[in-house]
This record gives sequence, structure tokens and C-alpha cells, in this order.
Amino acid sequence: MLVSVAAARTKWCPMARADEAGRSSGVNRALNGAPLDRSMCLGTGCMLWIEHDYDHGYCGFTRIPGVA
Ligand code: SF4
Repeated sequence: MLVSVAAARTKWCPMARADEAGRSSGVNRALNGAPLDRSMCLGTGCMLWIEHDYDHGYCGFTRIPGVA
């Protein structure tokens, strides 16, 4: 999924593991299922971010957008 850096930072990172009080560090979402602030995509701050142009890119864990 090709997204802007700003939009990526509103998406949950499947690799993130954030500790929440009373729960294991293996969790990545709140008890109500909502993503934790510390579990969001880092965009250009992540080594897996693939830059497409100045302000857009995608997570390196996904397939290349537009390629089957
Ligand atoms: S680019 Fe990095 S931080 Fe963003 S979703 Fe992928 S692995 Fe997580």
C-alpha cells in the first residue's frame, strides 16, 4: 500500500510490541483492541520503509504496490 509518510504514521505496525501496564510486552494494542500510540508505523524512521518519492512510500514487509 503506497501511502504518505503522515498517513503511514496513523497505521499500526505489525512488528511493534509496546509494553502496557500489567500486560506482556508481546501485546501491540490496548485491551479494547485500539492500537497503542507506540505501535504505529515510524515511516521514514524505520529501516524497512521503502521510499517511493519525497513524501510517499510503503512498508518493506508488503509486496511492491502494483506488482502481483
Ligand atoms: S515501515 Fe517499519 S514501522 Fe512502518 S509498518 Fe513497516 S515495519 Fe512497521
